[in-house]
Amino acid sequence: MVDILDKVKQRIDKGVTVVSVKSKEMMEVAKIKNQLSVLRNQQENVLSGLGELVYQMYLQNTFNEEKIRNKCEVIALLASQIQEKEGDLKELHLRAEVALGKSFCTTCDSELPVGAMYCSRCGEKIAEYEKP
Ligand SMILES: [Zn+2]
Repeated sequence: MVDILDKVKQRIDKGVTVVSVKSKEMMEVAKIKNQLSVLRNQQENVLSGLGELVYQMYLQNTFNEEKIRNKCEVIALLASQIQEKEGDLKELHLRAEVALGKSFCTTCDSELPVGAMYCSRCGEKIAEYEKP
C-alpha cells in the first residue's frame, strides 16, 4: 500500500517538476520573443529608412557614403542582437530539456522520442537541433 502511494507521489512530483520547468521556460521564451519582435521591428524601420535615404540621395544626385554606412552599421548591430536572442532561445530550450531529461519540439513543444529526426505532431525537422 505504501509502495503504491509512494509511486503515485513520485509521479505527482515528477509532473509538477515538468510543469514548473516548462512553464518557467515558456515565460522566459515569451520574454525573449517579445524582445526579438521589438528588435526585428527596429531593424525593419532602419532598413526602410536606409532605402529612403539612398533614394533621396539618388534624387539629389549626392551619394553620402558615410550616411549609408552609419545606417548599415545600425542594421548590422541589430542583426547581431537578434542572433544573440535567438541563441538565448535555443539555450533556454536545451536547458529545459537537460533539466527534464526529455526532448521537446521547438515548434509545437510536444515531447519527442529519443533520437527522433522529425516531430511526429508538426513534422518539424529536429536532427539539426540535437547537434551540439
Ligand atoms: Zn512539433
